[in-house]
Amino acid sequence: MSEQIHHLLDTIIDKVCDNEAIETAPGGRVKRTVGYVFSKQLFLHCNRLPKVKGRALLVHELIRAYGLIEKCRPIESIAANDCQMRSFHSQEFLDFVRKVGQNMTEDEDQTDEEFISDEFGIGYDCPPLPQLYDLMTHIAGSSISAADAIATKRCDIAINWFGGWHHSQRDEASGYCYTNDIVFAILHLLSHGFDKVLYVDLDLHHSDGVENAFAHSNKVLTLSFHKYEMGFFPGTGHTSDVGFGSKGRYHSINIPLNDGITDECYVDLFKKVMDRIQLCYKTQVIVCQSGADGLNGDPMNAFNLTIDGYSECIKYLISMNKPLILVGGGGYHLMNTARLWTALTACALNETLDDDIPDHSCFLAYRPSYELHIEAGLRPNLNSKQYIDSVLDKTFKNLSFINN
Ligand SMILES: [Zn+2]
Repeated sequence: MSEQIHHLLDTIIDKVCDNEAIETAPGGRVKRTVGYVFSKQLFLHCNRLPKVKGRALLVHELIRAYGLIEKCRPIESIAANDCQMRSFHSQEFLDFVRKVGQNMTEDEDQTDEEFISDEFGIGYDCPPLPQLYDLMTHIAGSSISAADAIATKRCDIAINWFGGWHHSQRDEASGYCYTNDIVFAILHLLSHGFDKVLYVDLDLHHSDGVENAFAHSNKVLTLSFHKYEMGFFPGTGHTSDVGFGSKGRYHSINIPLNDGITDECYVDLFKKVMDRIQLCYKTQVIVCQSGADGLNGDPMNAFNLTIDGYSECIKYLISMNKPLILVGGGGYHLMNTARLWTALTACALNETLDDDIPDHSCFLAYRPSYELHIEAGLRPNLNSKQYIDSVLDKTFKNLSFINN
């Protein structure tokens, strides 16, 4: 992102944070109520994440510019407490993170050699940050807040674009993810009596952190669509990775893909896999990570997807008519990520958006098109019909072993 846009973000951030209108929603279920997770502290912490600096502002402002936030029921994001943080992360990791964050000031260069140790994954991909523990509690708490709104029936679809950090492990930060808010959300759902949770991950990268957390459980079925190639992070997620033990085996589903997949090919594959899951798994609640790094134009430069492809997948999940949590994830073309998550918010609300981006505080970031849609990529699709069929065959075979 250019210096000019960074300057623009800095000048308007104070204005956004003056918006304290979002409060905890009252109880009572209304059909397909959409909740939107927000808090000022959460917003400020996410906006300073090094790999996606300024993204939270772009996303929140574009959704607001289209008038969608006022159509959602507010969900106040509440930071996780120490006890909740320990329900997934190890004490040693949390102690280390707390110490690292306390020893830094806002002015310190995050790339200083003295801070780069890579202990507990705090290093190059996940550099040390001031108030790192606070940041983690706010991110973890944001998806717990979304899960709580679902568990207490305050909404049917809970949206948290500040969450989606699927790589973080029990005792390690990983792949730009300091904590794993998704795991916390699912743990919260399980503690409220759900025992058939379907986790769907559309990010370009394999959802290794979420899969590992529940690999021994039959209460969570994890499904990840991702690029799988020698040397591509995190290097896991083959069709033969199916989970562990008498309960967890066959409850991890992996769809490894090659570069260049198109909307048509992706959506067709998605629907075929989901149709089969609907036959063999009695889903009670769905958590979907909608990482935007599979979009054409993302610096990851892998898939050819557009907003239409992602929207078709989300519409399918909504049509299952189960409680649904939507979280963000990757997305390194910041404006395209904002475009996608705005469009997906509209899908949840069953609204249609004008392709002309409305004038708002971040409007200039969308030049030159000032339009919402994204053109499809032209990379060759390296996923032949034969390859897709072989992935489907293996997936259907694995799913046939699931006992409801
Ligand atoms: Zn990713």
